[in-house]
Amino acid sequence: MTILEIRIVGDPVLRTPAEDVSRFGPELARLVQDMTETMDAVSGVGLAAPQVGVGLRVFTYRVGDQYGHVVNPVLEVGGADEDEALEGCLSVPGLGYRLPRPGWARVSGADMTGAPLVIEAEGVLARCLQHETDHLDGRLYIDRLRGADKKEALRRIRDSGYDDVASEIRGSRATAVGSSFGGGTFGAAR
Ligand code: ZN
Repeated sequence: MTILEIRIVGDPVLRTPAEDVSRFGPELARLVQDMTETMDAVSGVGLAAPQVGVGLRVFTYRVGDQYGHVVNPVLEVGGADEDEALEGCLSVPGLGYRLPRPGWARVSGADMTGAPLVIEAEGVLARCLQHETDHLDGRLYIDRLRGADKKEALRRIRDSGYDDVASEIRGSRATAVGSSFGGGTFGAAR
């Protein structure tokens, strides 16, 4: 297995809607394995294929003892209340913002063998399912921020020093701040 390089905001692959997987086989299995290993290596809660430069609709997730992967996910959201929690992203290192999202989510898709699969979740996993599906649509969580938070996030990313910060964090994931929420992190490891 291989630890893959995580693409950082500014990379066009993160802004390109991913394509449905049509071939289930050893290549897909290897991608899922490498993505799982990469996600675990940085203590991420989730990782979508575009984040490792692959334009396919696949993501992996690990929230507490719930973990796995989904191929070609179709997302539904709901719940009586919006859930607001701190969110971050491995591809937007060093930043984290509180973001409201629906408190319930369900994805229907397939596993790496093509067998149908459904994941229904609340809380952190529901947030993760939404965050990762966003990646497959070429969307980042910072797109969903509003007002002052959005302005600040965009300013920090556009700042000439951000690339340096990002590569520094990539080099030492262990000390990154502001990208954790709930029981784990979408962003860099603590
Ligand atoms: Zn992300």
